[in-house]
Amino acid sequence: MAQERILVVGAGLMGHGIALVCARAGHSVAVYDPFAAALETLRDRIRASLALMGEDNPDAVLERVAVRPELAEAASGATIVFEAAPEKPDLKQALFAEIEPLVGPDCILASNTSVIPITTIMAGLRRKERALGTHWWNPPHQIPLVEVIRTEWTGENAMGRMTGFLAQAGKTPVRVEKDVPGFIGNRLQHALWREAISLVENGICSAEAVDTVVKSSFGRRLAVLGPLENADLVGTDLTLDIHNQVLHDLEQRPGPSPYLEKLVAEGHLGMKSGEGFTKWTPEEADTVRKRVGTHLRRLETILE
Ligand code: NAD
Repeated sequence: MAQERILVVGAGLMGHGIALVCARAGHSVAVYDPFAAALETLRDRIRASLALMGEDNPDAVLERVAVRPELAEAASGATIVFEAAPEKPDLKQALFAEIEPLVGPDCILASNTSVIPITTIMAGLRRKERALGTHWWNPPHQIPLVEVIRTEWTGENAMGRMTGFLAQAGKTPVRVEKDVPGFIGNRLQHALWREAISLVENGICSAEAVDTVVKSSFGRRLAVLGPLENADLVGTDLTLDIHNQVLHDLEQRPGPSPYLEKLVAEGHLGMKSGEGFTKWTPEEADTVRKRVGTHLRRLETILE
């Protein structure tokens, strides 16, 4: 395995997990953040996440992580850069403009943006063929998928190097061949959420009923049976018959639901405000968070 020198830009939620994955795979990692508080807590946060993952030798992983308050020092000798700074286009563009002259011509430059087009972030670079998107999912050390997004300029060499690196680090890289909003995962996820909100908005069922239906039926299969595998399982002919009956009735509005807009306008922001589609006590919210964490950990061992 080629030893890479990784620069992670941004030591927050995503940056700490990306650094953890790279260091655990044996690479040396420098983490840059302009805020001292983020760097001061980084090692403890990585250690806590490693404990949750059942890592026997956290010190060996942490030995490979260097905390760097200066970008030039952090970038020195980097062969791959993962940017996980705040979701602001101007900030990300400025960061890559600053990083490009600090690294060699073959260093891969990757942004972990959630929704900003990679094309927008990378447009100002001199060598755009080594720039791409890597969309890690939260928590990055527990969710296997990383979407690897190609712009019109990205070279095959960079795509191949990045997917190879991620696979060797134990991740599941998937190539996104065009830079479309939401890449693959969020397009699929929000197509489902749009219909879920519409069902509630139109009085067809409660929010609780929507979630119960998903969790108690096709949600049980989703981790081991993708939608197109499922279509092949039941038959493409049956899939076509169902689409002929149902698709015309699904939610098709191009913008967000007025029901969702009203929730936000009224301050019903979900668990953090105590109410969203449903009401939440802090204990109930905590139970859900713990349930997701436990499920992800157990799923790892089941699927191994
Ligand atoms: P976060 O707020 O937890 O971390 C951002 C970090 O960037 C902070 O430590 C902050 O101090 C640092 N920072 C601020 N200004 C900076 C600068 N100029 N240069 C470098 N670092 C700077 O955010 P996060 O959730 O880790 O998100 C980071 C990126 O990953 C965003 O683009 C976000 O959209 C994306 N993302 C987030 C999730 C998620 O679920 N949180 C999932 C996928 C992608």
